[in-house]
Amino acid sequence: MYPDYAIQALTVYISTMIFLTLILILISWLYRKHKNSVDDTDIAGITYDLNSEMILWTDDFSDVYVNNKLRSLIGCAEKPVDGKEVLKLAFGLEDLNRDTLEKMIESSSHEARFKGQNGGLVTIAWSTSLVKKRKKNSLYLSTGFNLTNIRKMKLSLASANDFFNSSMELAEIGVVMSTDRKKFRASPEMVRMLDLKSSSITLSEFRSLVHPNDRIQFDSVVNSKDSAEVRSTDMRMRSAEGTYRWYSYRYKSIKGTAHTLPLFGGAIIDVTEEHEKDLLIERLAYIDEVTDIANRNKLMVVGQETYETAQILGYSYWVVVLDIDRFHIINDTCGYTNGNYILKNFAHILYKFVTPGGIAARMSGDNFALVLRDYGDDELPARTARDIQDEFAKLAVDELSAISLTCSAGYSKMPEDGRSFLEVVEHAEFALKSASGFQSSICGYEPSMHDSIIGNTELEKSLAVAIQNNELQLFYQPKINLETGKIMGVEALIRWIKPDGTVVKPDQFVPIAESSHLIGKISEFVLNEGCRQNMMWQKMGYPNIVMSINFASSDFYQKDLRDKVFEALVKSGLEPKWLEVELTETLALSDINYAVDQMNKLRDLGVKLAMDDFGTGYSSLSYLQILPITLLKLDRSFITDIESDNIAYEIVSAVIRIAKSKKIETIAEGIENKNQEDILRKAGCDYGQGYLYGKPMPANKLQEFLEQNMKN
Ligand code: C2E
Ligand code: MG
Ligand code: MG
Repeated sequence: MYPDYAIQALTVYISTMIFLTLILILISWLYRKHKNSVDDTDIAGITYDLNSEMILWTDDFSDVYVNNKLRSLIGCAEKPVDGKEVLKLAFGLEDLNRDTLEKMIESSSHEARFKGQNGGLVTIAWSTSLVKKRKKNSLYLSTGFNLTNIRKMKLSLASANDFFNSSMELAEIGVVMSTDRKKFRASPEMVRMLDLKSSSITLSEFRSLVHPNDRIQFDSVVNSKDSAEVRSTDMRMRSAEGTYRWYSYRYKSIKGTAHTLPLFGGAIIDVTEEHEKDLLIERLAYIDEVTDIANRNKLMVVGQETYETAQILGYSYWVVVLDIDRFHIINDTCGYTNGNYILKNFAHILYKFVTPGGIAARMSGDNFALVLRDYGDDELPARTARDIQDEFAKLAVDELSAISLTCSAGYSKMPEDGRSFLEVVEHAEFALKSASGFQSSICGYEPSMHDSIIGNTELEKSLAVAIQNNELQLFYQPKINLETGKIMGVEALIRWIKPDGTVVKPDQFVPIAESSHLIGKISEFVLNEGCRQNMMWQKMGYPNIVMSINFASSDFYQKDLRDKVFEALVKSGLEPKWLEVELTETLALSDINYAVDQMNKLRDLGVKLAMDDFGTGYSSLSYLQILPITLLKLDRSFITDIESDNIAYEIVSAVIRIAKSKKIETIAEGIENKNQEDILRKAGCDYGQGYLYGKPMPANKLQEFLEQNMKN
């Protein structure tokens, strides 16, 4: 608690006082024992060379002996002539009379201060005792202890202490010290900070202030080994306001020496605000704002740690990557508030499936990840994904009741499926992508998937270049009136003609274009080029025919779909009734309300609407009531079987009948022979399309077809 030099000075002081008292006792004893043989001069002789200030004096001041030590301070003779003046000076008294002398003798120690012969201020503590009482006078011996240096030390100690206390107060630092680690002394600031009852506090009182979760840490601080270095730790303690606040505790534990006690203690600073800032920064850096679960950064940090632990301990984990099907459509159609609601709830569902050691995170947009500890159950990731799908579907209530909420998942295993956590995640994403296109797909990663995915990425890059280089071209396939045999329209079907002349069919690049932004560009081209070409044929004098174009789901759900179609019509000058948009039933039914809305907007323009590939998707005839379509395209699969399969025939003729009752025209896709044509005509089908009449062909070939058809 006190510095070394103060303790040393105190020890010297006490031992000197004991020594001087012993000398006084010795002198008195000698004097009494040899009453007649020892005189004043003998006593003076004894004291003369002692290493303490001494004066032998009579109370009538007739005899005053000053020893060597005191003479060196005062600068007087051994037996000064003006003894009284010397005594006044040595005892620091203004006046020397019976009263002042008596007082001085009575007090066990009289502190005198005077100016020494070299000008410095001298402080001496005198102790006086009666040596001999005589008739004419009494003889006294005063022994002094020079306090000059100790006083100086005391002064500097006091100012150091003041400095220390005010520094602590100014810096708002609490300090706590202990020599035995059982009782602690707290600085005034510490008392204030923690609202302590006193500056003395026991270990258990101190510990009770620490937050229960930080007590183990506190124990390790208190039991820390002696060390020269300053250590620090942060812990929560109950503050004066009664709430737990964060304190940074910088502490040191010093070993005791022969002259000093061991010392343990340190300084405490309130760092609550810094902690709150740190938490905020951590939140911003690691928590996803919309869903409140971990974000990609956190997933990557925790995931890599988990990956490394898994390698060391021989554990394994499943990494499941999930994607909400058609989320961009939901977001566009239901608005951001509903979109965010869906994301939040999806995150909430995922969170329920997190097991100890795992994590759920939102990676981006509608992309989520779930890390699950593997206990040898290979079905776990697929089963969990299915359970998530079931829970997710239940969210489609109220406003969202018209949409089907589904999600797809890809999964991989760690550490075996990648050299790092990132790679394992990428492989789970491979699995997800390779199944994409199908809603509610769940697919596990297999190394063979790389080839097709890498192929797709390459294809995507070269497709982007192809669009820029105008390598896309429309082919046209005739649609024939089954009664008259006359052409009534064409379907525009896209082709990618590579510079070397190879023709790439849409099945090979449309799905890839659909999974990227490229489909928008393709559709814009098809729409404008289809309208332009049809208008051109009209201008060339060919009979007016309907131009059918195909739309992908991402095009169809665009908010500005109507405006884009309208623009294309205006630009080309084509009348709306000569344009038809083909939609698949899967596309229309994925969000029926919105689809109906979009379809009505197109119908209002005067554009025709065809339901493509009918019979392959949901195939509910009741939808024919709701969807404002003008034409129903029977899927090729029915037509192929229609000659041999009675059921196929029954279905086709029933559909044609119902469509007719709803004033919806019908067309059969994929007619390849006359027999099929005959059956369909008899069943009441209005139109036909297929290789029997013509394969999809370039514009100039179709012109030839038109000319030929006009002649027949
Ligand atoms: P879809 O709209 O059902 O087009 C009909 C497909 O059936 C065409 O294939 C056509 O060549 C083929 N087909 C027609 N008659 C017969 C036949 O008698 N026998 C056989 N075996 N096949 C026949 P294509 O041109 O390969 O197009 C395939 C699909 O690609 C289309 O199916 C359509 O869904 C999509 N597609 C084509 N062009 C576009 C486009 O411009 N945009 C979008 N989004 N999709 C397109
Ligand atoms: Mg089509
Ligand atoms: Mg079709």
